[in-house]
Amino acid sequence: MNTNIKSQPTIFVIFGGTGDLNARKLAPALYNLYLEGWLPEQFALIGTGRTKLSDDDFRERMLKDINEFSRSGEAKEDKWQGFVPNVYYQAADVQNADTYQEFANRIKQLEEEWKTEANVIYYLAVAPNFFPVIAENLSKAGLTTDVERTRIVIEKPFGHDLESAKELNKLLGCIFQEKQIYRIDHYLGKETVQNIMAFRFANAIMEPLWNRNNIEHVQISVTEQLGVGERTGYYDGSGALRDMIQNHLLQLLCIVAMEPPVNFTAEEVRDRKVDVLRAMRRFTPDSVRDSAVRGQYGPGWIEGEKVPGYREEPGANPESNTETFAAVKFFVDNWRWQGVPFYLRTGKRLHRSASIITIQFKDVPHSIFPPEMADTMRKNRLVISIQPEMSIRLQVQAKRPGVDMVLNTVDMVFDYKGTYVAQAPEAYETLLLDVMLGDQTLFMRADQVEEAWDLVMPILNAWQNRASQNFPNYSADSWGPEVAEALVAKDGFHWFTIPLSSKK
Ligand code: NAP
Repeated sequence: MNTNIKSQPTIFVIFGGTGDLNARKLAPALYNLYLEGWLPEQFALIGTGRTKLSDDDFRERMLKDINEFSRSGEAKEDKWQGFVPNVYYQAADVQNADTYQEFANRIKQLEEEWKTEANVIYYLAVAPNFFPVIAENLSKAGLTTDVERTRIVIEKPFGHDLESAKELNKLLGCIFQEKQIYRIDHYLGKETVQNIMAFRFANAIMEPLWNRNNIEHVQISVTEQLGVGERTGYYDGSGALRDMIQNHLLQLLCIVAMEPPVNFTAEEVRDRKVDVLRAMRRFTPDSVRDSAVRGQYGPGWIEGEKVPGYREEPGANPESNTETFAAVKFFVDNWRWQGVPFYLRTGKRLHRSASIITIQFKDVPHSIFPPEMADTMRKNRLVISIQPEMSIRLQVQAKRPGVDMVLNTVDMVFDYKGTYVAQAPEAYETLLLDVMLGDQTLFMRADQVEEAWDLVMPILNAWQNRASQNFPNYSADSWGPEVAEALVAKDGFHWFTIPLSSKK
């Protein structure tokens, strides 16, 4: 949510500098921020990991990663030469408290060179079991005391359940103030997700429609064509509900359902979002059975290629009970949304990859058209495509050209690619810049994370206590298990087809 100001002199310390997240997201994002002039003149990136590398080795790896993953394509020699002197590497085991003194020395040295104090951002791109030890060791080394200049960024997953999330919040809270803690949910940095707020709160015509009087139900689908692949080690202890619904999908729901904030400040926006989570109906063991379904993919074919089932993925438990698909019906019990179902679904190895929110409006109160004119007529729909297509479509009914009166559905479309020439930034670019600027609007506050865990815990507990009897229950390249269709069909609805234009 950056403005056009640049940040103070900044040092980024990336724990997990040799890892996949830094290679694919963080390094390209920082480089693109540099290219677009967002980085301050005095800027340094210190990558760290156990791997023994010199500064030059690390710079070379980073160049390779940027060339492969940056949205701006291969780095140009002159630009790279301008950026690379700011990049350093320090080998360190995060569990060894002594090595933190070396970070302190490096930071001090840079500040002396720059003749000014710098903001220092510790980015924890490492496995979650290291979050506590890094925070504690930073604190022991005296690196966390400046509350105005020191920030910590915590990657997903934030906790494994409500209890562990509370524990982590408590530990971080003993070392940092909340204003120093940036819990990443990268979905919130996506251009199209931020635009939902603009669409809702900068257009006067939306607000009168945005409630239970006009909206019949809401669907949020985040579907992936990819399988779990090599990541079964992580995924088997997680599953679709933890990995996607507890964070990304519930955050999307919050943006759709939130009340208008008084202003566009971090605390206001986050207060209104947490209000939604608080208002969400809690599940009982019985309502879990009626409202939540799960699936696991079996083998199949995707685009002519044979793909294994989840249990046959490398390193997978052949009897795994982990869900790779989840669909849940939620209700928000407040004046605006009483009785409006929010259906959320997510899964791997589905037919297409796409993230789409569909707002289904109610039918006209009375149709003046006879059935032969109106049999193709549909209720209005607002389709917000987050990825890969970036668009907002309002589906309305119109008269088909001709001498007869026949109605059909047409789209009024706002499409990013057709409207703007500039490339949208990657979510991590937006988020890293916001951390530098000290803007927490797009980051999860402690209470948001805990409310979201509290909401899904009854489902997690029920699923853990009751192993699924029929896994795998959907084949690769399908839209998920039949039980997911039944979840919406029993309310008289169906899952909306993901538009073909969303095909990867
Ligand atoms: P990864 O590829 O396995 O990288 C792990 C990093 O941790 C490596 O740089 C590794 O460096 C370092 N590391 C491991 N043990 C260490 C130790 N004892 N001391 C110092 N460094 C140590 O993992 P990743 O995919 O980048 O994920 C990192 C975090 O980001 C995880 O929390 C993950 O859930 C989250 N995340 C990742 C993605 C993604 O796309 N990859 C997306 C969202 C969230 P050495 O091997 O050199 O020690």
